[in-house]
Amino acid sequence: MDQEIDKKLKSRKIKPTAMRQLVLGILTEQTTAISLPELERKFEKADKTTLYRTLKTFEENKLVHSIDDGSGSVKYALCMDKCDCQPDDLHVHFTCSVCKHTYCINDLFIPSLDLPYNFQMDSVNLVIKGTCPNCSH
Ligand SMILES: [Zn+2]
Ligand SMILES: [Zn+2]
Repeated sequence: MDQEIDKKLKSRKIKPTAMRQLVLGILTEQTTAISLPELERKFEKADKTTLYRTLKTFEENKLVHSIDDGSGSVKYALCMDKCDCQPDDLHVHFTCSVCKHTYCINDLFIPSLDLPYNFQMDSVNLVIKGTCPNCSH
């Protein structure tokens, strides 16, 4: 388990520190995206700034991606191993209106969009709202 975590950090050229290992451990356990306030609640003793910096380092090194699901706080989710966070790698996200969880739909890529002449896309954010399997019965 710990080896897996270190391997993941190293594959993204992130130096393993105790904090990074812990945060990545939590992100790995999550099936849905997590916001900074949610992460803070899991670390009573950790400093907010340190947690924020850890997430930013992960994001810069493409270990996690951030999602703006319209809830007001940005959420973070692990990237797939091969993800390079380019527009071609981007997938659809799904926010459940009942439990408010945000899921990565990794198999569903965002289709290429024909933008008008001279409009250049850097990123695209597609969030579908609805009811997730846990809430649909
Ligand atoms: Zn739900
Ligand atoms: Zn995602």
